[in-house]
Amino acid sequence: MSRGEELLTRVGRDLHAALPRPLRHPVKALDAKGMELASRDAELRAALFRLVDVTPACRSLDDLARHLAEYLEEVEERPQALQAAMRVAHTAPGRSALGAAAATGVRHMAHRFIVGESPRAALGVLGDLWKQGTACSVDLLGEATVTRDEADRYAARCAEALDVLSAAAGSWPPRPALEADSAGPLPRVNLSVKVSALTPLMRPDAPRVGREDAAGRLRPLLRRARDLGAHLHIDMESLDALETTMELVFELLDESEFSEGPSAGVVLQAYLRDSGQQLDRLLEWASAGTREPPLTVRLVKGAYWDHEVVEARQHGWVPPVFEVKAESDRNFEELTRRLLDARPRVRVAIASHNIRSLAHAIAHNRATGEDDRDLELQVLRGLGDELGVAIAASGLRVRAYCPVGDLVAGMAYLVRRLLENTSNDSFLGEQQRGASIDELLAPP
Ligand SMILES: Cc1cc2nc3c(=O)[nH]c(=O)nc-3n(C[C@H](O)[C@H](O)[C@H](O)COP(=O)(O)OP(=O)(O)OC[C@H]3O[C@@H](n4cnc5c(N)ncnc54)[C@H](O)[C@@H]3O)c2cc1C
Repeated sequence: MSRGEELLTRVGRDLHAALPRPLRHPVKALDAKGMELASRDAELRAALFRLVDVTPACRSLDDLARHLAEYLEEVEERPQALQAAMRVAHTAPGRSALGAAAATGVRHMAHRFIVGESPRAALGVLGDLWKQGTACSVDLLGEATVTRDEADRYAARCAEALDVLSAAAGSWPPRPALEADSAGPLPRVNLSVKVSALTPLMRPDAPRVGREDAAGRLRPLLRRARDLGAHLHIDMESLDALETTMELVFELLDESEFSEGPSAGVVLQAYLRDSGQQLDRLLEWASAGTREPPLTVRLVKGAYWDHEVVEARQHGWVPPVFEVKAESDRNFEELTRRLLDARPRVRVAIASHNIRSLAHAIAHNRATGEDDRDLELQVLRGLGDELGVAIAASGLRVRAYCPVGDLVAGMAYLVRRLLENTSNDSFLGEQQRGASIDELLAPP
């Protein structure tokens, strides 16, 4: 085993040992069981997705139960609990009880991922996370707007979130590990925004129109974040939004009024075959300017894998994403090394629930003699809670991505998280199926 792999294994084992035991969270263990069941049965999985999809549109519990019974008809081998559910769905009182249970189930699942209906309602959870050693990035649910009014409302909600969070974060206790790295202070308030929610005109065939429309809403948000000392992070969506998003961020951050702030960031998706070239472009941009503070790059694998593959196949194109999971994992490690080696031109945030991917980043950072505080690790609320606790306990900086909004707005998000969590290839799936730590840390 090479020295690099040895160090990585040590770091990965320590992180794994610091994970809180799931038995201490009975509700989560129950959720995990449901997820495991869904990952083993494709039809059950499909029924689950369709149920989650239809819940916000249902007018009554009876309505919801009818849908559930209909979807479950298509599941050939039903577990016992589902058999019982099907039997009660034949009577009106049975349907309403089943509907209530289904609605509670979907709500429970959503609450695992969504921290509150509004930024104000989320303040308790966000403040508790901070006290326990976890910073956050708030994401206001709602994507792909179709009208100008919707885009205006989303921008207004973002502005309000910046105000509400800034007012509250001032009274949080000091947490030095979360508040500075060698490039300087790190804002306590961090908001993630989606360009497709800032304009209804985002079309890959006319990127300029979407860019200009989104710029009209993003510019005031950048000003607000600068004045409040907050960080604004621009999420990355499916490939057809990539060009608009990158050009928009480069163009706005180059404007002289933003030369000294706010702190801002973008996302790089390692599942894209040409993500190496995108990193070249990012680093070129970061090297050319004199902007302070440095751009934060959040490295992810990418959340739209199914969408990209289906879309490419429909057109007879080669998918723009790797088709073998290990290729995405290997590329993630290569991009991690390149990003870490590119500091201080950029700040680096490694976002993953894969202990191997995270341990690789920590080990490479240490092997090159850099300080732990110059690396940020990020997890999603609901999927990476235990991991977040373990990272914080190891003295490393961790940030949880915390969606805020109502159930209807959260459905697209929830479905993506379910797809991810129940996919056979996913790290979390492997972990839930009981893979050993040696298997989990094996090179991809
Ligand atoms: C804090 C945070 C912020 C995020 N922000 C964004 C964002 O802005 N934009 C975005 O797109 N995603 C974002 N994500 C989601 C991220 O892209 C991943 O979907 C998610 O983290 C799962 O990857 P993993 O490394 O945790 O798990 P792993 O199980 O190690 O990896 C799963 C990932 O591997 C890839 N994959 C799966 N199957 C295959 C296959 N057959 N061939 C090739 N690759 C495959 C997919 O990208 C899949 O999501 C974010 C994640 C976190 C933690």
